[in-house]
Amino acid sequence: MKCPRCNEPMNPRSVTCKSCGARILRKSDKMAKKMTVNRWISMAAGGVLIIIALVLAYSGAYLFGGIALGVGAVLILIGKMLG
Ligand SMILES: [Zn+2]
Repeated sequence: MKCPRCNEPMNPRSVTCKSCGARILRKSDKMAKKMTVNRWISMAAGGVLIIIALVLAYSGAYLFGGIALGVGAVLILIGKMLG
């Protein structure tokens, strides 16, 4: 196994490269990281939609406000399930 950053041979079981100190992400780590990012995006999008819903409701667009609120709540629920 070679380090992806400096291309020096390294111990496949070590987490960091001895030559350059790069942290090597294993496949499971990458998956976990991706899940965390997805969760974060989902929660953030849900939060933004709820803010939009409040703005829409405030300006009298209750139908669109309700839809945005529903979608936002679902996104936050998905985010919670991912985590
Ligand atoms: Zn390295």
